[in-house]
Amino acid sequence: MYLDNAATTKIHPDVMATMQEVSYANYNAKYYEEALLVQKQVDQAINAIAKMFNISDQALVFTSGATESNNYIIKGMFELFPDKHFVTSTIEHKCVLATFKYIETKGARVTYVKPNNQGQITKHAVASMCNQDTVFISIMHVNNETGVINDIAEIQAYAKQNEIYFHSDAVQSLGKTPLNFADYDFLSFSGHKVHGPKGIGLAVNNTSLEIPSLIHGSDQQHGHRAGTLPNELIVGLAKAVELILKQGNELLIKNKEFVINMFADSFGEDLVVNFHDVPTVDSIISMRLVGEVNQIFLEENKEMIKASTGSSCSINNPSYVLQECGFTKQMIQETIRISVNKYDDLSELVSN
Ligand code: PLP
Repeated sequence: MYLDNAATTKIHPDVMATMQEVSYANYNAKYYEEALLVQKQVDQAINAIAKMFNISDQALVFTSGATESNNYIIKGMFELFPDKHFVTSTIEHKCVLATFKYIETKGARVTYVKPNNQGQITKHAVASMCNQDTVFISIMHVNNETGVINDIAEIQAYAKQNEIYFHSDAVQSLGKTPLNFADYDFLSFSGHKVHGPKGIGLAVNNTSLEIPSLIHGSDQQHGHRAGTLPNELIVGLAKAVELILKQGNELLIKNKEFVINMFADSFGEDLVVNFHDVPTVDSIISMRLVGEVNQIFLEENKEMIKASTGSSCSINNPSYVLQECGFTKQMIQETIRISVNKYDDLSELVSN
């Protein structure tokens, strides 16, 4: 049973079919039929994403994944405002934290907000770290290890009131919990977390700021990111976004309950579902198996359960996210992350 959808997802068959249908020509080529066709197909895909997000086509920058989107936005903001103050949290994805650590080596002033004891980053905590010099706040929408949803609408409203730019890494929330895309200054997304292809992500810039490009070369994507446009990945991403936003959460909820019941049957009172007092997405379930050692448990049960101890990017280190949420070493060692999707019915998989 594949229960590691927060790490990556299987490409949806309709996404694969769409990718196979797109013209192979270079988007920037001219004169011949295949080139004209690819422009039409890719422009349609870009326009479809913009429409679904209710933002302009120009706000979209296609990247290689959310790691690059986060690097592009954070490094770009530092380049534009090197003397200003930045705020983020201690439980961001490793690629956000590492980028902030990098800009600190170049002289950036960064403050890291801690979560409350429910693993949530509150507006109050963010606001208490901001000052007159603060130019940029970056707080993720949904944490990839805990599934906890941060109230980013409230943080964005605070940022707007105080003329601070706000970015949210919304990789784990797309299609799982509502998001008013147009309300945010900057957003990051990843194709492979939503049953799209690996190797593509999105950086959304709804501001009038020109974020300096990370990748230099020709002037593709209005000079925001050089490199031949990946036709197949762009149309695949557009299809994946369309499908995930259209599909309701019924199966996601059913799958979540199925997995919790399955573990409850085996572990009884030794199953503790973490973060049950705060809003969480139904796709990510952080749970403790009391008395077990997570790595040994997952290794011994790998034929039955394909899951992670936490973020697959930091698999060999004890989770800094859970540490920040106040978990003891033992609690961290007992915790596994289950992540389900909204397309495969787990109860059918088991009965077949
Ligand atoms: N941000 C979050 C919250 C994630 O879960 C991930 C995936 O691991 C990333 C960023 C990085 O995404 P990508 O694999 O597209 O670079």
